Amino acid sequence: MSATHPIAAVSESGTAAVSTGVRDGRPVVEPPVLGGAEHTDYYLLDDLLTDEQRALRRRVREFMDQEVLPIINPYWERAEFPHELVPKLAQLDIAGFQISGYGCPGMSNVTAGLVILELARGDLSMSTFAGVHSALAMMSIALLGSEEQKQRFLPPMARLEKIGAFGLTEPAHGTDVVVLETTARRDGDSYVLNGYKRWIGNATFADHTIIWARGEDGHVGGYVVEKGTPGFEPEFIAGKTALRCVQNAQISLTDVRVPTENRLAGSHTFRDTENVLLASRFCVAWEAIGAAIAGYETALAYTQQRRQFGMPLATFQLIQYRLSQMLADITGMLFAQLRLSQLMDEGKMTMAQVALAKMHNTQRARAILADARDLLGGNGIVLDYHVARHLCDIEAIATYEGTDTVQALIVGRDITGHNAFVPVPPAR
Ligand SMILES: Cc1cc2nc3c(=O)[nH]c(=O)nc-3n(C[C@H](O)[C@H](O)[C@H](O)COP(=O)(O)OP(=O)(O)OC[C@H]3O[C@@H](n4cnc5c(N)ncnc54)[C@H](O)[C@@H]3O)c2cc1C
Repeated sequence: MSATHPIAAVSESGTAAVSTGVRDGRPVVEPPVLGGAEHTDYYLLDDLLTDEQRALRRRVREFMDQEVLPIINPYWERAEFPHELVPKLAQLDIAGFQISGYGCPGMSNVTAGLVILELARGDLSMSTFAGVHSALAMMSIALLGSEEQKQRFLPPMARLEKIGAFGLTEPAHGTDVVVLETTARRDGDSYVLNGYKRWIGNATFADHTIIWARGEDGHVGGYVVEKGTPGFEPEFIAGKTALRCVQNAQISLTDVRVPTENRLAGSHTFRDTENVLLASRFCVAWEAIGAAIAGYETALAYTQQRRQFGMPLATFQLIQYRLSQMLADITGMLFAQLRLSQLMDEGKMTMAQVALAKMHNTQRARAILADARDLLGGNGIVLDYHVARHLCDIEAIATYEGTDTVQALIVGRDITGHNAFVPVPPAR
C-alpha cells in the first residue's frame, strides 16, 4: 500500500474469497484477499531505493503471489516441501543473498532484506528454506570456507542445484548450544563425527549439511557433510504446528567420515559460528516484518470487503484503530531495519543491535498476526486466507535463531553490563 493508494487487494492467485452474504439464494463471493501489486510503504520507503531494488522486490512478490500462494496450503497441510518450486525460485537468482562472486547475487543488505521480506510475506516456510540455504549454509562457507571450498560448494548452491542445511542445535542444547557435545576426531585424512542434532531445516534432503562439532583440542569447527554419507541419518520431525513445509530433522551422526578438505578452514571457535548467526539473525528480523505485512494487508483488504451491520468492517472506528496500530508497528520496524542494514553495510552492526531487532520484530509480528486472525473472524482460522498459516508459522520464527528471551538477555547484557544468562547460585 502506498500512502495515497490503499491496496485494492485483488489477487489472481486463486486463493479463497470473502463471502459477503447471500443474493438470489446463492452465496455472494468477493475476490481473494492477499496479493496485489502495491505494497505497504506508508512513509514512501521506496523513494529511498534504487530502480533495481524496486524491480527485484516486485519480481519476488509476483513469484510468491503467482507461483507459491496458489499451491502452498495443501503442501502445508501434508507437511511436505514443495520441491516443484525450487527450479522456479532458482530463476530469481537470489540464492546466496549478500554473498559476492561464485555465481551469487552479491546483494546489498537492504536488497537482501527486501527479498526476504517478500518471501516471508508470501510464505514463511519458503523464506525459511531460502534463509537456511543462503544465510546459514552458504554464508558459513562464504565466511569461513577456504577459496577452494568456496569454489567447490557455492556455485551449484547459488543455482539451487545443491541445497544446504546448517546443523548447530542439539537435542540437549538449544539456547546453550555453545556447550556443543557433537565431536570431531581426526583419523588420517578424515574427521569422524559423532553426536546428535535437532531441528535442522532442509536436512532430510539437503546435499550439504554443515555440522558444527567440537574437535579433540576443544575447538569448534564446521564440517560439510555430503548427502548419503554412511552414519549420517536425518529423521524427519513430524507433528509440527509451525513451518509445516520446512523439513526439520533430528540427525544422528555415528562414525560419520568427513574428508579433511570438508572442514571449513576458517572455523576455530564458537565466535566464528556466531558471525554466521549475526548475518542470519539480521535476515530473520526482516522475515518477521514480511509476516507482519501479510497479516496487515490481509486484514485491511478483508475488512474493506466484509460487511457486518450493513457496512464494511473497515468503516468501524475500532477496526480502523486496530489497522492503524498494525501500520504504525510495521512502519517503525521497516525504518529501524533500514538503518540496521546501513550499519551492517558499514560493518558496525553489533549482535545486541540485531538481537533487539529480532526480538522486537517477531514480537510485533506475532501480535499483528493474532490481531489479523481475529479481524477475519472465523475465516481467520481457515488456511485459504493465509493468515492462519502465517500465525502458526510465526511461532517458529520467534524461536529459531534464539528465542525472544534470549535476544532480550543479549540486549540486557549490552545495556547493563551484567550477564544474566547463567543463574548465580545463592550465596551460602
Ligand atoms: C522450526 C525450527 C527450525 C529450526 N531450524 C534450525 C536449523 O536449521 N539449524 C539449527 O541448528 N537449529 C535450528 N533450530 C533450533 C533453534 O535455534 C532452537 O530451537 C532455539 O535456539 C531454542 O532452543 P531450544 O528449542 O532447545 O529451547 P531451550 O533452549 O530449551 O529454551 C526453552 C525456553 O527456555 C528459555 N531460556 C533458555 N535459556 C534461558 C535463560 N538463560 N534465561 C531465561 N530463559 C531461558 C528460552 O527462551 C525458551 O523460552 C530450529 C528450531 C525450530 C523450532
